[in-house]
Amino acid sequence: MKQNYPYRGVKGMKDVFPAEARHYRRLEDRARRLLESCGCGEIRTPLVEHTVLFERGVGQGTDIVNKEMFYVPAKDEEAGPDALRRMVLRPEATASVARAYVENEIDKTAPGVQRYFYLGPMFRYERPQKGRLRQFTQIGAEFLGSPSPGTDAEAIGVLWDFLQGLFLGDLTLLLNSVGCPACRPDYLTALQAFARTRVASLCEDCRARAEKNPLRLFDCKQPGCRTVMAGAPNIQDHLCHDCRAHQAQVLDFLQRIGVTPHLEHRLMRGLDYYTRTVFEVVSQNLGAQNAVAAGGRYDNLIAELEGPATPAVGWSAGVERLLELLPETAPEPWFDVFVVDPGPDLAATFAQVTQLRRQGVRVGLEFEARSVKALMKRADKTGARFTLFVAADHPAQVQLKDMTSGEQTGLAWDQVAVRVLGKHE
Ligand SMILES: [Zn+2]
Ligand SMILES: [Zn+2]
Repeated sequence: MKQNYPYRGVKGMKDVFPAEARHYRRLEDRARRLLESCGCGEIRTPLVEHTVLFERGVGQGTDIVNKEMFYVPAKDEEAGPDALRRMVLRPEATASVARAYVENEIDKTAPGVQRYFYLGPMFRYERPQKGRLRQFTQIGAEFLGSPSPGTDAEAIGVLWDFLQGLFLGDLTLLLNSVGCPACRPDYLTALQAFARTRVASLCEDCRARAEKNPLRLFDCKQPGCRTVMAGAPNIQDHLCHDCRAHQAQVLDFLQRIGVTPHLEHRLMRGLDYYTRTVFEVVSQNLGAQNAVAAGGRYDNLIAELEGPATPAVGWSAGVERLLELLPETAPEPWFDVFVVDPGPDLAATFAQVTQLRRQGVRVGLEFEARSVKALMKRADKTGARFTLFVAADHPAQVQLKDMTSGEQTGLAWDQVAVRVLGKHE
């Protein structure tokens, strides 16, 4: 990294060069294919939203809203007392998807279950640390309009298959139920009563949480608080009949597709909008920040945003964390063919190369005419499967060398594409 560079990029945001961008693409293509296979269509919502959306949709009192918002100041025409904080770079996309659904009255124009996926950058003003970026990428799916436990299983199943197909190593699916408006208050009362008797052992944040939002007690990373919470009341013992039945069916559906979650009664997720099913996929290989994907059912969010009562379930996965876990693979070459032509008529070669590219052959050509030897070295370095030699005295005929077998063939330019692409299959 260049030191003291006056034009340096913004902290917590990174540049992605072609070799790494390929990894992103591989992962994203795989997600698209799988999500489309279960009827999810891509939804693209704006990067900028009004701050109130997340205050309402994610919840005041969450770290995202309290500490991590990336504000975008409003211009004159919208200026007012809150002009500096009127808008925000989206910290997550579920609230945006719900907003888009409500605002565009999708329940009227396209009744029935809507299945969406999204893929793109999110922004959180976090303390930069390993594995945490201020601009990061999320892939997510949202299934809107179905209260069925089958939909929970479908959402979880496609996430699980996506992650398994990436060969990330040891992954565990954690699942819990956070109850519903009928049974959660009872649990919150029990949890609060429990926390109040142990206030002395809790950190300052948790003392406030015990009063304001006891479910967040489970989020604390302080060892003292974790010890206390290990003995906390189990929400599974407080679920109502319907929540219990819902969870049993989710587990049954999952079992049919060979997915076995680990029930984790302390899993609550940090966001206000979840109801019933919540889940997380964790990796043993990521240290403390070990969740690679998370989600849950949010039956009340859309109504909360003044839409029609619409049950929903969804998840998101952090692409950069997944990339950290991807197994090393041999880099794929950029070219099928690398051209060795030291000149002089590079214009003619350029025309032939362009024809090949138009036929879908990936061809490397460099104009900085050098010796045949230097160009061959370059060809070798690119890893191209073929090297193509152009001779100055015989420009219509080329020599195509298969770099794996060493076999060399003389042929005309217009035979190259068939030869190269044919071999490819
Ligand atoms: Zn319930
Ligand atoms: Zn604490």
